[in-house]
Amino acid sequence: MSLELDRTSKIPFYQQIVQQLRDAILADVLPAGSLLPPERRLADELGVNRSTVLNAYRELKRDGLVEARVGRGTEVLARPAADAGLPAAAALPWRQLLRDRAGAPVDSLTRDLLERAGDRDVVPLSVGLPSPDLVPVKELGEVQAALADALGPQLYMHTPTEGLPELRRALAEHLLARGINCGPDEVLVVSGSQQGIDLTVRAFCAPGDAVIVEEPTYFGSLEIFRAAGVRLIPVPVDEHGMVTEALAAALKRHAPRLIYVQPSYQNPTGATLSPARRVHLLDLAARHQVPVLEDDVYRELGYSGESPPPLRALDRHGVVLYLGTVSKVMAPGLRVGWVVAPPAVGRRLAVAKQGLDLHSSTLGQWLVARFLEEGRYDAHAARVRPIYARRCDRLITALAEDPDAGLSWARPRGGLSLWCRLPDRTDRRLLLTRAAEAGVSFIPGACCFPCGVEDVYARLNYSFPAEADLATGAARFLTAVRESRRRHAASVRAAAGPPAIV
Ligand code: PMP
Repeated sequence: MSLELDRTSKIPFYQQIVQQLRDAILADVLPAGSLLPPERRLADELGVNRSTVLNAYRELKRDGLVEARVGRGTEVLARPAADAGLPAAAALPWRQLLRDRAGAPVDSLTRDLLERAGDRDVVPLSVGLPSPDLVPVKELGEVQAALADALGPQLYMHTPTEGLPELRRALAEHLLARGINCGPDEVLVVSGSQQGIDLTVRAFCAPGDAVIVEEPTYFGSLEIFRAAGVRLIPVPVDEHGMVTEALAAALKRHAPRLIYVQPSYQNPTGATLSPARRVHLLDLAARHQVPVLEDDVYRELGYSGESPPPLRALDRHGVVLYLGTVSKVMAPGLRVGWVVAPPAVGRRLAVAKQGLDLHSSTLGQWLVARFLEEGRYDAHAARVRPIYARRCDRLITALAEDPDAGLSWARPRGGLSLWCRLPDRTDRRLLLTRAAEAGVSFIPGACCFPCGVEDVYARLNYSFPAEADLATGAARFLTAVRESRRRHAASVRAAAGPPAIV
């Protein structure tokens, strides 16, 4: 066989030689026992340095395709029978190898947001995380130092998949104070409530199964549901939370496998399920025998004293799986959350969790256990609640500066975000671009809807930006809204054509 070099190619000569010889060997054009041309002769034939050929032969040797035989030269080796007939080796086409599930997201808004959270020129009204200045850094440091003294290396070793026993006990006690009566063996520690949603979906849903979700809902949950390939059945949310009359109809029509609901200070609307609807929802779930996944991550962030009892506390039929986290009050980077579930369910979730991360961070679990045991968690929640309430008011006051912008909202009674209705005549697609240009980010409401809708809302978070930046963020957002309205008016005028001459 003769080799040819492409002198215009960016691929180095030695690699071109490797590629052609490798192809020839794998395609049996050079069968086992064949001799490659002597290095010097091939170098002369191709018009390259001898070292170029030497390098190429070395690489073929490394791949186990040839061997240097004393007195004979470089000989092609026999390959295991299984290799015969395979196409020539080539780089893996990674994108083609990834399996796509119908409807599964390719991109992730959550990932993009986390990545951009630190962008200094933008007021991040899109980020639904607690304020960095409210993370109890000093206390965490003190507790960690005491733990390291007491536990030594144990602080950094493995813990059981279900969770650190001390933390499960502390959580059972913490939950009891919120009306949830469960044993430590019913508490599964997870790496953030996000993992709790994921594990529950893995355990209860197969692709194509129906799952009831609020409309709108937490977009990060939608990413999990879509990745699992489930059918999303939306049930509307109004100022009293999920509309349970609509839930009743959906349960009859769709035989869902799961109801996912945030009854308190719902993300994104801030709505809280009324007491009557709590009872109705539980009754419906029990009659239709459908598990309820109660996502209660904003429980500690109610601004006006007592929060309503969790569904799990009212649950006489045992239909509720309950989700909590330290992310909203204490520190999201600890990645400590919990699922309260009957032991049989907990065991299934634990097996699935084991495949994902063996167990949640030992250090994080110990820190949370001590914070709970020593009353630090409740004290910290009590400290941050009024601060978030004040930030919420600041944002609202700043937005209200321009009533002509046409925005409207209901003041949330807890949580971290404001759900804002945009004025009707607005170029909503332009709004996101204009806001980015003005230096403010927000979540377009459509991201929180399980099925595509027109973007009539914006989710604005007042928790993550510095308090002093909220007014600036609001002013920039208002500018973007005004420009988008002007653009809309101009495009309507253009579509109507020149005024009629009378
Ligand atoms: N549920 C809801 C409603 C949320 O808003 C979030 C975070 N934004 C999560 C779950 C996940 O939080 P984590 O995994 O940090 O506990």
